[in-house]
Amino acid sequence: MSQQGYVAAPPYSQAQPGMGGYQGGFGAGPAQPLYGHYGGPPQAFNAPPTGMMKSPVSSAAGMPPPPVSTHYNPNAQQNGAHPQRFAAPPTVPYSQSQHPLYNNMASPGLPPAQQLTNQMSAMNLGNYAPGPMQSPPPPTSSVTQQPFQTSPPPVMGQPQMPPGPQSPHMSPQMSSPLSPPPTMTMAGPPMGGMGSPFPGPPPPGPGGFQPSGLGPAGPPGFPQQAGQFGGHMAGPQPGMPGAFPGAPAALAGPPQKKLDPDSIPSITQVIEDDKVKHGDEIYSTNIRGQVPPLVTTDFRVQDQGNASPRFMRCTTYSLPCTADLAKQCHVPLASIIKPFANLPANESPLYVVNHGESGPIRCNRCKAYMCPYMQFTDGGRRYQCGFCNCVNEVPAFYFQHLDHMGRRVDFYERPELSLGSYEFVATLDYCKNNKPPNPPAYIFMIDVSYNNIKSGLVRLICDELKTLLEKLPREEGAETPAIKVGFVTYNKILHFYNVKSALAQPQMMVVSDTAEMFVPLLDGFLVNYQDSKAVIHNLLNQIPDMFADSNESETVFAPVIQAGLEAFKAAECSGKLFIFHSSMPTAEAPGKLKNRDDKKLVNTEKEKTLFQPQKGVYEQLSKECVAQGCCVDLFLFPSQYVDLTTMADVPSHTGGSVYKYSNFQMETDGEHFLRDLRKDVQKSIGFDGIMRVRTSTGFRATDFFGAIHMNNTTDVEMAAVDCDKAVTVEFKHDDTLSEETGALVQCALLYTTISGHRRLRIHNLSLNCSSQLSELYKSCETDSLINFFAKSAYRAILNQPLKSVREILVNQTAHMLACYRKNCASPSAASQLILPDAMKVFPVYMNSLMKTAPLVGSTELSTDDRAHQRLSVMGMGVEDTQLLLYPRLIPLHNVDLNSDTPPLPLRCSEERLADSGMFLLENGHFMFLWLGQACPPDLIQSIFNLPSLAHLQGNMCALPELDNPLSRKVGSIVNGLLEKRPNSMKLHIVRQKDKPEMLFRQFLVEDKGLHGGASYMDFLCYVHREIRQLLT
Ligand SMILES: [Zn+2]
Repeated sequence: MSQQGYVAAPPYSQAQPGMGGYQGGFGAGPAQPLYGHYGGPPQAFNAPPTGMMKSPVSSAAGMPPPPVSTHYNPNAQQNGAHPQRFAAPPTVPYSQSQHPLYNNMASPGLPPAQQLTNQMSAMNLGNYAPGPMQSPPPPTSSVTQQPFQTSPPPVMGQPQMPPGPQSPHMSPQMSSPLSPPPTMTMAGPPMGGMGSPFPGPPPPGPGGFQPSGLGPAGPPGFPQQAGQFGGHMAGPQPGMPGAFPGAPAALAGPPQKKLDPDSIPSITQVIEDDKVKHGDEIYSTNIRGQVPPLVTTDFRVQDQGNASPRFMRCTTYSLPCTADLAKQCHVPLASIIKPFANLPANESPLYVVNHGESGPIRCNRCKAYMCPYMQFTDGGRRYQCGFCNCVNEVPAFYFQHLDHMGRRVDFYERPELSLGSYEFVATLDYCKNNKPPNPPAYIFMIDVSYNNIKSGLVRLICDELKTLLEKLPREEGAETPAIKVGFVTYNKILHFYNVKSALAQPQMMVVSDTAEMFVPLLDGFLVNYQDSKAVIHNLLNQIPDMFADSNESETVFAPVIQAGLEAFKAAECSGKLFIFHSSMPTAEAPGKLKNRDDKKLVNTEKEKTLFQPQKGVYEQLSKECVAQGCCVDLFLFPSQYVDLTTMADVPSHTGGSVYKYSNFQMETDGEHFLRDLRKDVQKSIGFDGIMRVRTSTGFRATDFFGAIHMNNTTDVEMAAVDCDKAVTVEFKHDDTLSEETGALVQCALLYTTISGHRRLRIHNLSLNCSSQLSELYKSCETDSLINFFAKSAYRAILNQPLKSVREILVNQTAHMLACYRKNCASPSAASQLILPDAMKVFPVYMNSLMKTAPLVGSTELSTDDRAHQRLSVMGMGVEDTQLLLYPRLIPLHNVDLNSDTPPLPLRCSEERLADSGMFLLENGHFMFLWLGQACPPDLIQSIFNLPSLAHLQGNMCALPELDNPLSRKVGSIVNGLLEKRPNSMKLHIVRQKDKPEMLFRQFLVEDKGLHGGASYMDFLCYVHREIRQLLT
């Protein structure tokens, strides 16, 4: 397998002489002003000024949509102000249309502001702390009476608003143009009343974490150097008081004054507030450093110079100017990039730019691609690179005159000048061996050992493929899919099939020497499905019967991957292996595994070995697969431990997915598996990818998390990347950033399309920079932050004990919040917990993260399940981690049958359940229908067609489709969620107080963890105590 001619191709690897490669591009540029070459105001990017808009030229399909002028304001770009100040006032009056929504909430009927007031009084809280430079907050009464009158009407057309500390995520009830920065406060009395909720290590026993062995209170103050994730994590901080909050006995004790759970920040409330604020709005990306709506909000994106948040999200949209500031606040600077994110039907797909043989235009020095951040000068003959400041000649074919604003007159005709995201057609320089790639292939590799035959799985797969292969993904506009298909069956030997269209019958070729894997046929193995349909159907009909009498229970695994890889090499193509596998590969062959599960390692220094794959064969295979563009998807059907950590090693480095169906049974798991398979086969996907993240001077990408492979420190290699996979990129400073010019990020992904075209997909994003930490905290995005923390912590447990990792997580949470308190909030009583508005629910997520299976040291959890979750999260985007860490809990018993909107989710806590209720809970991987003991019989009748709850069968996993409105409504809610999520979910139906309810309860993440870990309330108190220590 030759990589020659590929690695050395110009796009990614050609270091410029004297530039020292990537880093060399930084800070070395000529000291010319980046923007404002014509004396005009600095322009981050060139959205059209109002009244100057060109009428859209209606010609080629490569035209960007005309910009929406109402969302533009030149000042907005310059000062990085938040769009809300300039945008049109909300068209939906909150008080009218949204009011009924709140009636479903746990705190019925109260508008948010009043709720807050009540909460605060219940907690003996003072007013929230006034912010710096602000007038006192409005009287409570006025807030209560006019809870939603917060957007000042006259701001339209008054761009020069005082730079008040507004936060784009301010919830309506907490914001007003002159109000203090919203903070949550927890005042003295309740805290005092709680005594010491964390009086040192929790008592051992059910529900608590293992005793930490540390004293109740370490030396005051934190060590200055908190552990940072990244390349490696610092060890546990000595002297940290019982760093991970366990189950505090104090709360259960009789003298406790119970805190009102409604008084602490609620994720469901934050989600609803954001929906009210941004739902259904058009989000224009023309403003630098603009914080997008939450991932949970439905909004429509209009690309006006920055990549859609569907493609790129950031932990903060205002970077601190200096490394010192970044260090001080401990807020990780990262971007979560999902290059192939699905776009909704009402957003246009990416435009493809074709510069013919010349290929895309790139900066000579840093190799950044032509984008809206290139500033044309010299009458259009040159352009200055926004990333490295290098001044480049404009190639003759690309020359265009500038208008009096200094903008090219073809601005709107060229996506690469006016849009945040677009594609370039890649030239041969960007192809392996300077040859255009072949279309990718999908190989279906079915384990036909005894278990899979007996369970009926083999027949199920073969039957499904007959219809599924009709739906292979195809390039937009293409009549038929270009993807080729091939078939292999195996147990401890492999069977290849010749399904050439000319054959009357498929031919089988057996390879029993698994040590030296080769593909016994070239012609006829990878075929076009439509051409060979008859032979393929013939084969799929025969396979289940061919092995019906097989008693072979041993399997091989690495040779199976090797076989697929060799087939791709022989065909000179990339592609995906779909492997349907049942058991640990114990047959004598490369990659043979043995049972190394050892629960005694849990909560020891050696626990990390459970997450470390076996070295050797699989590691080597991963590298070879990535080099060939061979993605591996693994569908596992284990009945016991299979060393998933090792078996998933190749999938998790090749952009693949791992699906696990333990103790697979046709009746209960068949449909679940098929839904996953269908989604997976039809996903939009790119192959043989290599991604590079470039930044403007002053900072750079230093670390990458994802289902990826890194051969060096800058090139992210992706055998494949599909619409659900995201790479989380961490940034570090290497110089000072400028408030004026801001910071730029360009992600360039070179890949092969499903029809075999080589393309470059470009995503650009511009961020603000500030020397004020308050700007950073205002521009934080909690969902992105938690994605970063999840991935970095899940990587860290490969090398460090869980306990240290959890300690570092708490430590970092406390540092982030303490820094805000110290630098951004106004002085207030130490007993008050003050949280930045944009991060006010961060502690819920963090606490939930620490209670996830990989981070919880419990012998009750399966090692394979823990490994599975760990690896799944590494490739997740922000939507998926958000949902995983805060499941949706939806009440269904009082659903409004006439409404199209599903019921509002409730907080994930037992307190929100009702004995007479029915609730749906889902987190993207699990789905439960929980039925209270006192569920009314008519409800049971409507949903299950049974007279009472007692008649319900224990193993039921699907709802009958009954002819009544409630059944239809519930069915549509369930199906809607299954449709929306990347993975299918098996529906678990659990009755209150039945044993399986335990499984359900571990997803009530605001409560004490089933396998250890604090409740949200306790965690908040614990963090508060840590913050107070840091501040003294
Ligand atoms: Zn450059």
